[in-house]
Amino acid sequence: MSNQYDVVVIGGGPAGYVAAIRSAQMGFNTLCVDRFKGKDGKYSLGGTCLNVGCIPSKALLDSSKHFDHMTHSYDVHGISFDNAKMDVKTMIARKDKIVKQLTGGIGQLFKANKVNYIGGSGKLLKDRQVEITNDEGTQVVQANHVILASGSVPISIPNVEIDNEYIVDNAGALDINEVPEKLGVIGAGVIGLELGSVWNRLGSKVTIFEAMDTFLAACDQGIAKMAARTFKKQGLDILLSTFVKSATVKNGKVEVVYETKGEQTTEVYDKLLVAVGRKAETDGLLSDDCGVTLTDRGQIDVNDDCQTSVPNVWAIGDAVRGPMLAHKGSEEGSAVAERIAGQHGHVDFNTVPFVIYTEPELAWVGKTEEQLKEAGIPYKVGSFPMAANGRALAMNEPTGMVKLLAHEETDELLGAHIYSANAADLLSECVVTMEFKGCAEDLSRIIHAHPTLSEAVFEAAMNVDKRAIHKAN
Ligand code: FAD
Ligand code: NAD
Repeated sequence: MSNQYDVVVIGGGPAGYVAAIRSAQMGFNTLCVDRFKGKDGKYSLGGTCLNVGCIPSKALLDSSKHFDHMTHSYDVHGISFDNAKMDVKTMIARKDKIVKQLTGGIGQLFKANKVNYIGGSGKLLKDRQVEITNDEGTQVVQANHVILASGSVPISIPNVEIDNEYIVDNAGALDINEVPEKLGVIGAGVIGLELGSVWNRLGSKVTIFEAMDTFLAACDQGIAKMAARTFKKQGLDILLSTFVKSATVKNGKVEVVYETKGEQTTEVYDKLLVAVGRKAETDGLLSDDCGVTLTDRGQIDVNDDCQTSVPNVWAIGDAVRGPMLAHKGSEEGSAVAERIAGQHGHVDFNTVPFVIYTEPELAWVGKTEEQLKEAGIPYKVGSFPMAANGRALAMNEPTGMVKLLAHEETDELLGAHIYSANAADLLSECVVTMEFKGCAEDLSRIIHAHPTLSEAVFEAAMNVDKRAIHKAN
């Protein structure tokens, strides 16, 4: 293998592998270096997302959803079972198979696009040299451009030591091989709610400890309140304004001491999941003299175009500012490769979609009502309840609503908030509308197939101008 490259990418997650493929598509001689090792001890491309994040968590969410429907809602269809059982080991093995298939697929895409790949740790030296270390030794390669895509790692909290057996992080929570009777979760964020839901559906009694006094503060609060009621009905016990003081493993259980509004409680759980957020991973990434600076939050400092403090060194994905989402990192990866090629790669941060894959799903894009109020932007609201959507009723999925926010004067769509079955997919047309600077009226003039869940988006768009057909305006 050569030691001269046009582009060297450090990190093979959704930010890095997309940057590498797009660079190769642009005709650059490209190398990607990634150090993640899978459960078999072998290097595995795809980063957090494919190995221990988006994909495995969705595989478990889907398996547990089938079980939950069998045990809680199939009866309304007239379907009954004598003894529905979940074999957790089979569920985990299925998840592992999907992970293997997809991570292996990145290797094939690299071959097809002629991206060079080395499994190992990469460190940026000065003058865009990259030192690569693995079991075979250390080598140094020279790059014209370096793209740092080192991702993120879980944040830890004092007096709570992860052992990934009893006290687990996201990786450990994806490999629990029997249903814990009682599961404690620290953090009612995306991971806490998604993985808490998995084990709750399989029969665990789940308690979530959340430090903030507001549930899902980043969401539109009308929708967040609706979701809080559903989670409660589903059996998730979410304790707000609650801080875990310590967690100690004793006799194969976890003793948790937590405090809610000054009152201290001690409770024992079979497992404890710590999901209090993630931080940029820069461990071993930068030599002291490479010149790349970090922000005071430990992220790689970049400008709007993902350029670091060193010319021709770029950084993307979870390692830099902005939401920690796979699609945000991938967009930055494409944009940087295009900029290196002299094109105008662009990422529109106003239209990054957010999704929480619980049941129903929460999906949103753009501004919340609270943000519009705070910014003093005049707006109109259009909404439509899923309970009035024919397809939702046919599917036995009547919970939730679509809520659209449009500018009072121009009618431009400023935000979309969907709480429903398949909300993630329903959101796409709102993202497209916003990307094209479209209006609520544009959405309401598009023919939507009947009967579909998407008619709820259509009706909410009409309700912005108080002309919805299937609800009183
Ligand atoms: P990563 O995916 O973290 O990849 C970085 C890679 O770089 C890793 O393989 C790492 O080992 C490697 N690396 C780091 N340092 C070095 C080095 N010095 N040398 C070589 N290699 C190095 N996002 C969504 O959009 N949708 C979801 O549904 C979703 N679900 C999630 C569920 C869970 C449980 C978790 C934890 C995260 C989830 N995310 C989701 C977030 C998503 O996984 C991240 O936003 C995404 O993986 C970030 O991509 P990245 O390429 O920046 O970093
Ligand atoms: P998060 O930021 O979504 O939630 C962390 C929660 O923990 C917050 O509500 C926070 O207030 C709370 N918290 C922090 N410290 C605490 C403490 N000491 N005690 C109690 N609560 C505390 O973070 P996460 O759930 O760990 O997820 C990490 C990242 O991964 C997120 O940024 C998210 O974007 C990404 N992710 C995305 C998806 C998705 O897109 N569906 C799924 C999983 C993860």
